[in-house]
Amino acid sequence: MHERLWAIKYIILLLLFGISLESMSTAELFAEVEPFKTAITLKFDRQWWFVLYAVALLVINVFTRKVYCRYICPLGAALAIPTKLRLFDWLKRRQECGSPCQLCAKECEIQAIHPDGRINANECHYCLDCQMTYHNENKCPPLINKRKKRGKPAPVAAQLIPVVQVQAAE
Ligand code: SF4
Ligand code: SF4
Repeated sequence: MHERLWAIKYIILLLLFGISLESMSTAELFAEVEPFKTAITLKFDRQWWFVLYAVALLVINVFTRKVYCRYICPLGAALAIPTKLRLFDWLKRRQECGSPCQLCAKECEIQAIHPDGRINANECHYCLDCQMTYHNENKCPPLINKRKKRGKPAPVAAQLIPVVQVQAAE
């Protein structure tokens, strides 16, 4: 379901592009699919249907994170296209990513990591959260194992919390 919903933003982008070829002013009207003008620029001070749309997105976000960014944003869809031409893969992965470890996939707020551990570059927002985990020897299970083998002491209590999450994820 999540991966199928990704298509919506590409469809919206194509529609906006098609409409803009016909009429830029109409395209501007349909560009109101983004709620930021209502919520930030106009501070909800406009017609009720715009306010209702922005509030509906906010309410949905209470239950599931970044719905607009993940499924609706045409700008995000447009920015995903150049990622096809990228020369380097900056985001590091381990052999254990995906099998068996699902920690980064669970933590990624936009669910851009496939269950097999691969990162979907089209959807990734490059927040680098998973890269922080990748280098965290108190959180990333393979690094924890290496640290234990080296006989390094356990982390301080505050840093133990993510380790508990790892065990729960396993
Ligand atoms: S915690 Fe480490 S092993 Fe697990 S998915 Fe993240 S980088 Fe991969
Ligand atoms: S960089 Fe951020 S958005 Fe991209 S896969 Fe990692 S956690 Fe997810």
